Amino acid sequence: MQVQQNFLLKKYNTFGIEVYAKYFAEFDSINVLQEVLPSIASGNFPILILGGGSNILFTKNFEGLILKNELRGISVIKEDDEFVYVQAGAGENWHQFVLYCLQKNLSGVENLSLIPGNVGASPMQNIGAYGVEIKDVFYELEAFHLKEKTVIRFNSSECEFGYRDSIFKKRYKDQFAILNVTFRLNKNPQYNISYGAIEQELKQMDVEELSIHAISQAVINIRSSRLPDPGVIGNAGSFFKNPTMPGKNFDELKKIYFDIPSYIVNQDHVKIPAAWLIEQCGWKGYKKGDAGVHVKQALVLVNYGKASGKEIYQLSEEIKNSVKQKFNIDLEREVNII
Ligand SMILES: Cc1cc2nc3c(=O)[nH]c(=O)nc-3n(C[C@H](O)[C@H](O)[C@H](O)COP(=O)(O)OP(=O)(O)OC[C@H]3O[C@@H](n4cnc5c(N)ncnc54)[C@H](O)[C@@H]3O)c2cc1C
Repeated sequence: MQVQQNFLLKKYNTFGIEVYAKYFAEFDSINVLQEVLPSIASGNFPILILGGGSNILFTKNFEGLILKNELRGISVIKEDDEFVYVQAGAGENWHQFVLYCLQKNLSGVENLSLIPGNVGASPMQNIGAYGVEIKDVFYELEAFHLKEKTVIRFNSSECEFGYRDSIFKKRYKDQFAILNVTFRLNKNPQYNISYGAIEQELKQMDVEELSIHAISQAVINIRSSRLPDPGVIGNAGSFFKNPTMPGKNFDELKKIYFDIPSYIVNQDHVKIPAAWLIEQCGWKGYKKGDAGVHVKQALVLVNYGKASGKEIYQLSEEIKNSVKQKFNIDLEREVNII
């Protein structure tokens, strides 16, 4: 493993922030981690595992070692009457994995088409879109404990999945490198088109017979038209999570803001689109220097060129404060702040 020093991270984070890592190395096998890590990581500095850099905001130079995960390979490990179990290396691109499943006619991840990033971060974030989350297709993962140098297997309940959340963002934060993830995919498609604009897009596409391929294409069309391409404008997707609140608090809020949208989470709780709250505070399309809020999607903070991570973070602070002031709601960041 070649360790580089003072390494520019601009191309390694989709915000395109110009920061440096003190040390940077790529690993494509667990042996590299087991054999080389002890010697290079004997210094007392932090270690960060990096995937596609699409859910990270670097607010300063990273004074430690960044390990870019390049573990590859996708294979079927077992199957039964209903399911096929597919294991993917953590360094595989997420959308390429979705395409693999589509090609093999395996259902479960079509709604998650075109989400940027790599397979390794998908359970860590419990990525989700259009009514589906990773936890719905997750079977197990293997992760390397960075200090103890052991490989541990986690099943779904051990991952403690929540909304864009897992044990790897809480109790085990920064302790593990996820090596591979096994997904349980359906042989018989279970379509989920009730969420968002999928049904409408399928109509526009003149789809006569529903298929996982059609759903994937519909999702790709919607995402391409609504979300900024990080290759063109730096961003990390949704910057904030959609807040959840007790139904009775929501009823009070609705008396003041009668058009406030919501989704039912369970009997007692509703979810409110953070984009709506941010838009109501007048942030949509806002720009200060090169840091801004996207013109079409208020949930997406953007770097128009040379914004620093601190400027983007500061903007997110101002947005948080104004939403708190107007609605008394605390927004929580989805993006990992480093
Ligand atoms: C345009 C755009 C649209 C997006 N849309 C969605 C969406 O619809 N739904 C959604 O859920 N997300 C979305 N995202 C966010 C992002 O795509 C996901 O969070 C994705 O899973 C991040 O993957 P990554 O490999 O880029 O992770 P990174 O940004 O590299 O890392 C994210 C975090 O995971 C950790 N990590 C990464 N890999 C590993 C590993 N192997 N082991 C241990 N820790 C690891 C990192 O240390 C970091 O803390 C979007 C992002 C963009 C830019």
